[in-house]
Amino acid sequence: MILTLKSDTTPQQLQELTAYLNKHHIQHIQVELSRLLVLPKNNAAELTEHFTCIESATHTTQSFPLASLEWKTRTQVAVGNQVIGADDFSVIAGPCSVENEEQIYAVAEYLHSRGVPYIRGGAYKPRTSPYSFRGLGKKGLILLHNAAKTYNLKVVTEIMDLHLLDELMEYADVLQVGSRNMQNFYMLNELGKQNKPVLLKRGMHAKAKEWLLAAEYILSGGNEQVVLCERGIRSFDSDMRNVMDIGVIPFVKQLSHLPVIADPSHGTGDASRVTAMAMAAAAAGADGLMVEIHPLPQQALSDKQQALSFDEFDILLERLNALLPAVNKKAPTQSGVFKLQTL
Ligand code: PEP
Ligand code: MN
Repeated sequence: MILTLKSDTTPQQLQELTAYLNKHHIQHIQVELSRLLVLPKNNAAELTEHFTCIESATHTTQSFPLASLEWKTRTQVAVGNQVIGADDFSVIAGPCSVENEEQIYAVAEYLHSRGVPYIRGGAYKPRTSPYSFRGLGKKGLILLHNAAKTYNLKVVTEIMDLHLLDELMEYADVLQVGSRNMQNFYMLNELGKQNKPVLLKRGMHAKAKEWLLAAEYILSGGNEQVVLCERGIRSFDSDMRNVMDIGVIPFVKQLSHLPVIADPSHGTGDASRVTAMAMAAAAAGADGLMVEIHPLPQQALSDKQQALSFDEFDILLERLNALLPAVNKKAPTQSGVFKLQTL
């Protein structure tokens, strides 16, 4: 159950309510920076009778009340002048890793020319081997930020660890939590206290409801700006890097009000299948995409097999232009389509 307190609730009224809950051993969590209390039990009548500071009580049956559709119908996450989860289809694209100035500026200029509003790029990379390229660190973050500024793009980049929070808060518009960190609960807790959108990727072994419980960690900290990202799950098929779970998109939308985007790059691991799965995700109701692109895919320092060239990404955008009207979405440009003037 979620209790919403009146806006003029005094600290003393709150203290009386929590003292009552404690006395009756009613477990509860106060959502930081907001007027919400989350209780596992549904004894609203008794509470609302006793405490006039309670504005409303919402019954939820899910273990993730704040992420649940029972609590809210739709969340729209604002990123500057952009909104994720509205009618605009949010395309985020960029290299797996920021590699150098020339590369990231080329990507930023290209995205700007197509009307794509977000640039992604890892500065701190999670790599399976410690000997692989692990990103440029702060230097990469600053390059990404400057390239984005030059071309009026929003920055989406991964937070690998909490000690990087201050840096990321300064240089990123959206904090990406990677698949490997989806259940880093202490990090999720801290991100819940920040005023910055969080892109929460699905853990590669995570069930849909575990993913929503991870989102609940952020929401229960008081940060409502959460976007989910399906990026494929591990399976028995060694020919696939991951298996893109298209079915989870409508499933999560049946359970939650949070926007869901899809990452067909990590979801397939192979550039030749990225566009097909991007279309499938859009058709399944995704609110956007995150796609890896590179000026010279074969020279990429990480994930080169799955990176699309600019020409290949143009084809993806062209197909999106054709598909989006059928799912009541549009490109976030004035004309409502991605700009493909050079095709
Ligand atoms: C990435 O987006 O570059 C990345 C590392 O993704 P994931 O966490 O999904 O593996
Ligand atoms: Mn990658």
